[in-house]
Amino acid sequence: MREDIKSFITKVRLPGRYTGGESGSVIKDKSYVRQRWAFCFPDTYEIGMSNLGVKILTGVLNEMDGVWCERVFAPWIDMEEEMRKRGIPLFALESGDDVGDFDFVAFSLSYELSYSNVLNMLSLAGIPLLSSERDDSCPVVIAGGHCTFNPEPLADFIDVFSIGEGEEALPEIARLYDEMRGDGTYTREGFLYRAATELKGFYVPSLYSVTYNEDGTVKEYVPKDGKVPARVKKRIVENLDKAYFPTDPALPLIEAVHNRITLEVFRGCIRGCRFCQAGMIMRPVREKTPDVLCRQAREYADNTGYEEISLSSLSISDYSCIEELTSKLIDWTNDEKINLSLPSLRADSFTKELMDKISSVRTSTLTFAPEAGTQRLRDVINKNVTEEEILRASHLAFAAGKSQVKLYFMMGLPGETYDDIAGIKDLASNVVEEYYRTPERNRKKQAQVTLSVACFIPKPHTPFQWEGQDTMEELSEKQQFLLDKIKSDRKIKYNYHDADVSRIEAIFARGDRRLGKALLLAHERGIKFCAWEECFDYDEWIRAIEDCGLSPDFYANRDIPDDEVLPWDVIDCGVTKEFLLRERHKAQDAVPTPSCLEKCSACGANGLVDKKYCRWCPGGGETPREAVEPVKTEKRARNTDAPAVRPVRIIFSKYGPMTYLSHLDFARNFMRALVRSHLPVWYTEGFNPIPKLAFASPLSVGCCGDREVADIKVTENISDEEILKTLREYMPDGIGVSEVYTAETKFRLIKWAENDIVVKTKNADPSLPEKIEKLFASPVVMMKRSKSGEKEVDITSMIKSVSASLTDDGVLIRAVTGTDSENYLNPEYVMTAVNDAFGVEGDDGYHIIVRRRLLLEDGVTEYR
Ligand code: SF4
Repeated sequence: MREDIKSFITKVRLPGRYTGGESGSVIKDKSYVRQRWAFCFPDTYEIGMSNLGVKILTGVLNEMDGVWCERVFAPWIDMEEEMRKRGIPLFALESGDDVGDFDFVAFSLSYELSYSNVLNMLSLAGIPLLSSERDDSCPVVIAGGHCTFNPEPLADFIDVFSIGEGEEALPEIARLYDEMRGDGTYTREGFLYRAATELKGFYVPSLYSVTYNEDGTVKEYVPKDGKVPARVKKRIVENLDKAYFPTDPALPLIEAVHNRITLEVFRGCIRGCRFCQAGMIMRPVREKTPDVLCRQAREYADNTGYEEISLSSLSISDYSCIEELTSKLIDWTNDEKINLSLPSLRADSFTKELMDKISSVRTSTLTFAPEAGTQRLRDVINKNVTEEEILRASHLAFAAGKSQVKLYFMMGLPGETYDDIAGIKDLASNVVEEYYRTPERNRKKQAQVTLSVACFIPKPHTPFQWEGQDTMEELSEKQQFLLDKIKSDRKIKYNYHDADVSRIEAIFARGDRRLGKALLLAHERGIKFCAWEECFDYDEWIRAIEDCGLSPDFYANRDIPDDEVLPWDVIDCGVTKEFLLRERHKAQDAVPTPSCLEKCSACGANGLVDKKYCRWCPGGGETPREAVEPVKTEKRARNTDAPAVRPVRIIFSKYGPMTYLSHLDFARNFMRALVRSHLPVWYTEGFNPIPKLAFASPLSVGCCGDREVADIKVTENISDEEILKTLREYMPDGIGVSEVYTAETKFRLIKWAENDIVVKTKNADPSLPEKIEKLFASPVVMMKRSKSGEKEVDITSMIKSVSASLTDDGVLIRAVTGTDSENYLNPEYVMTAVNDAFGVEGDDGYHIIVRRRLLLEDGVTEYR
């Protein structure tokens, strides 16, 4: 953890976002590192740590000799304020080093609303915001992710975009950099030129000039010379079975948005929904084989202790081996109490067999995405599912004991009428009715259908890229119309996305280079964290765009003619413009296109990889299977149903990164280590069993502990020595296990805690220790917070003793404070009282609290 944040880190929200030190994080010896990457996710830690792309690409780079790739997340507003106040630049989590000193600063761009955070992170790193203002001493700023399929709004700020899948592309650009640094030929300009002209899939905006027509539309993109490609083709991984997949990633210290294993089953989609960007830009479909997936899932679970595996892909029930995969996974996940979850399912490929598999999965909700309320509109958008299929799938789910169904829809789709919106409610009501058609014995709870309705956003490289978005007024009216229809039905829940957020997304999704000025202005006006409701300011965004002489309607609401040059035409996603136009015109006539499974529609993507890896493209076949070694594990199989044979007490220290976690986050880290260890721990019963674990007296955020106490129960006769050895092997940084023995006493015997408050302060008054002891010899009345509110109390009634002494760099206060519910006192109150009386913590001062021991009633004897 970086030294200069220690003095204030406990004052910011969720300090665990900034400490690093997670299990699985990669630390390399700097003396063997030639090239350093700062992999930046332009949002908070808990969102970035859930992103599979971040895990894959940091892992790929760290596999390279001499390359060290660290993670960087956007500091939340309170942290940024503290950093800017103290002149602390953006830093990387693993080393704590300044991002501005790295060779590469890489951004992962998954959503347009993160663009202002990219600028803010560059500014916090002290890197010139404009690519044109960077010199050879600056890092190379590179970006990848889905948003780079229209890189233009960020063209002024990013040196080079990596288009498409990065597993092979990033090591190539890293090697080019190494080569040029090694032979002394590196210049920033020369490097970017070689990346654009010698490697595939790299777009360097400064090598293209853009001209515009009088009406503001793009006239043309002119490459700097004949070697610079007129269009940059996306990169794609051919054989996913052989591609890098992270099975031992850094484990989030605090609760991440997705606290689970994300198992990527295949890439691409056979369906061709006309609004869906991912479905187009990730073509063609490439599948992993079930044995490879099973092995990866097993290793991942063993390494992390996660309790859930989520099968991830655009349309998981289209996976050609879904039943084989779920059978193979359930074989061991059920025994190990690991939950298997499936994201949104296709109603038409949802079978009884799949339902039977899912029935043994512990989830009560199934999710389908009809996207539109009527068959006509589903034909327009090419969502080839019928109402009958949705009802049949719901029936299967209800018959198997599920009571909740979630349905995803879009509003504002091209060609939509109010009949289509009314159709959303009708479909939801029919699903509810389907519930009451299932036998009564299956209906354990009340039916609940949740509608989640997003606003249509025209996305580049889709058949709907040319269609204007509804205006805000139109979208709001439509939302109100649906709300009015639904409000009397308690079995239907309606969630909708805000139209103003979708409008800003549409502007940047279809934006051109000129929007860079608006982004810069928005950044200068403090716009950041726009994906967060509390930070999103629609009016400020519109003002910034209009103040640059640009029109929001031009980007978001305009229907674009077929022959107009699009800002993203410079990117070749594999799917041809001819195909997209054919699809646009078929949508206008409400004519659906069959899936790749039924008939190839010649989208153009099949030429990107060897046909043997494209499951559905012409000439393709089943992905070639190679022998996969089963995971060899020496670990004991978990027997989570066995009864406990004895209670075990664990004495441990808590320090470093663990100090800055809430008790809940700390307990989760401790519990995951127990799961990873495969010790025969006794599990709780119920829906989601977890190891039974109890802590004697939770510590507050910012407090270390020398001899903390936790109890578990074991289900086998295993020796204390073996438990101790195993725990030491599996505990994360910041938890040091010192003793293990059979627990024979109850936590209620603990009455006091001995705390050391180490105060770092310059030039402490020599008489301070005496003054401190004197202070606590008389009543000290303070406002004290408790569950029932705040009230004035004399805190000395909750203190057994206080002593103090001078140290080399400050003062040491030893306080014995109460721990049980009637006289509990957080030792922070002792420090606050000292500060209030003597102001010992000046500008540079701060303190650390270490709980040394838990004590019995007499305030002297250690609890055991
Ligand atoms: S080439 Fe044909 S089968 Fe392959 S992704 Fe395109 S439409 Fe589907």
